[in-house]
Amino acid sequence: MPKCVFCGKQIPRGTGKIFVYSNGKVVNFCSNKCEKNTFKLKRKLLRVKWTEAYRKEKTTGGMRAAKHKAEEAASQANQNAEE
Ligand SMILES: [Zn+2]
Repeated sequence: MPKCVFCGKQIPRGTGKIFVYSNGKVVNFCSNKCEKNTFKLKRKLLRVKWTEAYRKEKTTGGMRAAKHKAEEAASQANQNAEE
């Protein structure tokens, strides 16, 4: 089953909508709500509270936390090299 590109939910068979961009990119929407949030309201995934992306960002810290950890590890490696 495909996942909704906006809210991240699994889309039950026989429901939802497939949107094809003119450049050939294909995305799935579970509902009209998700489609409108993307195209009409032009909302960003990470700013809408009911999306999976937002929840992941809030609970695990998302990309920023991963980046921060990577930077920390890099700085520690540099310190070790200097000693
Ligand atoms: Zn959705």
